[in-house]
Amino acid sequence: MTQPADGSCIFCKIVAGQIPCFKLHEDANTIAFMDINPVNPGHALSVAKGHWPTVAEIPPEVLADVAKTAQKVAKAVFKELKPNGVNLLQANGPGAGQSVPHLHFHIMPRVAGDDVSLNWEYKPGDMAAIKTIYEKLKAAL
Ligand code: AMP
Ligand code: ZN
Repeated sequence: MTQPADGSCIFCKIVAGQIPCFKLHEDANTIAFMDINPVNPGHALSVAKGHWPTVAEIPPEVLADVAKTAQKVAKAVFKELKPNGVNLLQANGPGAGQSVPHLHFHIMPRVAGDDVSLNWEYKPGDMAAIKTIYEKLKAAL
């Protein structure tokens, strides 16, 4: 699906071939390449070719293609690097830690004892508060 590039976006420049990358995969809607600031060896990105900042804007079929490419790369990571686990991480907005506002999934190999701070402890929620928010969200779907 076509979507105008953003001239100031680093991932649009990679898609256009104006900035080099270690390209793992490319198809009609997606590109995957190595992250140049890896949290662990093998950290890669699956990126939409079009410039949509977040899940709020991207067409669902393109999001599905980006997820499929992330799965393809994750399978290669499992096969070749045999990590303890892999996180697929997709951030939306600066509050979620998104630094490049062009939709992408991280394929993040995990190593036992790494200090990547994605895991959290379970704290039981307040069921009344959960229900109130559930009702709001359900009505917005
Ligand atoms: P996020 O913070 O979720 O938006 O992730 C953006 C990711 O893009 C970070 O992990 C960066 O290391 C990565 N990144 C930024 N510039 C490049 C680049 N030129 N080539 C590869 N990865 C990049
Ligand atoms: Zn872009």
